[in-house]
Amino acid sequence: ADDVTLDPWGSSTIADYRKLFEEFGIEEFDELIESVPNPHYLMRRGVIFGHRDYGPVAEALRNDDPAAVLSGFMPTGDPHIGHKLVFDEIIWHQQQGAEAYGLIADLEAHAARGLTWEEIDEHARDYLLSLLALGFDPEEGTLYRQSGNREVQDLAFELGSKARFAEFEGIYGFDSETSISHMQSVVTQMADILYPQMDEPKPTVIPVGPDQDPHVRLARDLAARMRFFKVTEAYFSQELDDAERALVAEAYEALVEVADGDQDVRCVHGAQHLVDPNSVALDADRPTVEVPELDDPVRASAVKKLQNAGMEPLRPRVRFLDRNASPDAFEDLVERIDGEKRRYDEHVDAFDLSPEDAEELAREVEVDNGGYGFQMPSSLYHRFMTGLTGGKMSSSIPASHISLLDDPAEGYEKVKSATTGGRDTAEEQRELGGEADKCPVYELYAYLLSGDDDDFAKRVYDECVGGERLCGDCKEQAARLMQDFLSEHQEKRAEVEGMLEDLDMELES
Ligand code: SF4
Repeated sequence: ADDVTLDPWGSSTIADYRKLFEEFGIEEFDELIESVPNPHYLMRRGVIFGHRDYGPVAEALRNDDPAAVLSGFMPTGDPHIGHKLVFDEIIWHQQQGAEAYGLIADLEAHAARGLTWEEIDEHARDYLLSLLALGFDPEEGTLYRQSGNREVQDLAFELGSKARFAEFEGIYGFDSETSISHMQSVVTQMADILYPQMDEPKPTVIPVGPDQDPHVRLARDLAARMRFFKVTEAYFSQELDDAERALVAEAYEALVEVADGDQDVRCVHGAQHLVDPNSVALDADRPTVEVPELDDPVRASAVKKLQNAGMEPLRPRVRFLDRNASPDAFEDLVERIDGEKRRYDEHVDAFDLSPEDAEELAREVEVDNGGYGFQMPSSLYHRFMTGLTGGKMSSSIPASHISLLDDPAEGYEKVKSATTGGRDTAEEQRELGGEADKCPVYELYAYLLSGDDDDFAKRVYDECVGGERLCGDCKEQAARLMQDFLSEHQEKRAEVEGMLEDLDMELES
């Protein structure tokens, strides 16, 4: 359990969730739960254990402000009870008023797992039927396939221009053997994550397993890189101390000087304080605006803070000052700076804005200027279910998981044959109590079989650890509940078939 690796296409088990908080900066969900309106039982029971930046989503839900939820499914096999966690999370957010998106990651399944299109079609249908049967409202929400969504493809192309192969190497371990389609499926996934914000920036949550965190981190980075106005945003959001702020102000003023006056100016020395010098081309034929050098330590700390806040200091903006930039691009830049300045001038008290308000203002500016103004996407992480045979629940080991398509009688048998956290003898169990925390059957109660009834889940737990509950009866009860759940779910699947047929037209790739 010492090594924690996060590999979206691997079979990593996350043995020690605590490490995720320390090493990857995933935050504990517990600290936030009070701010969530009507928390879902998966939240209340700690199955949802971590998040990145979920605060803005919770706030939007509380205030009935726009918010979105999106998750994707790679149709590589049958949907099972582990996938149900994500289905439930999407549906719950939809019921709390968020725009909901469910997508079929068919390009990823083809590129990363090599499935044929026929296999993908069949599995895609099964995922969607279960999502609908569990309560997803397709009238209010959006379902799509990656390959059939032109807007996502276009956005993926745009995001691809901000992503570098070296990053894919670092994040995903891609190498010279990785197919181009696999890389393309990654930028497609980035576009999926940002898709709910194409019309309007809004807090968006991606509920996933923690193995998908690399995708979330990259999407957050790319969202930030799509911004033009990040420097002023940092400036006004008071990330910086006074000296650093003075430095940014100088660079900013220099840019404004360009906007205000001499359009021949092609290079802004002031900006270089905060910029990778290689990204500013010096053009000997044109006059320059000079800004005095400031201390290197100040520059270094300002750059660091901007980077920590997910901002690439000034680079996207001075990109247009490159020697190869067309006069049109240059004028466009001048206009943007000018527009930005006017916008900020309206807010003379901008220094007093809260970081949240400053960020909102920056996004408004961005959208006014034709950008997306993406808000960094948030995420929720749930625990993986333990396999019924111990170890990880895996689609490739049928006895380890219960498929939502399993015959109810088969589901019953699988639960009956599951390993438990019970003691060797009934006597010992009465004396010491069972180990519910290590028991896959208890997990079934907590994650699924108790539904919204916290008291029931708690009673099973208390009776188990108190030695009043013995595994034979406990499994019998769980097996019956599982059988009922599967029968009911499959009946509902049959009922929503018609709904899926109506949607099929839209979903065709
Ligand atoms: Fe698991 Fe139930 Fe046995 Fe406890 S009594 S260890 S919850 S099967």
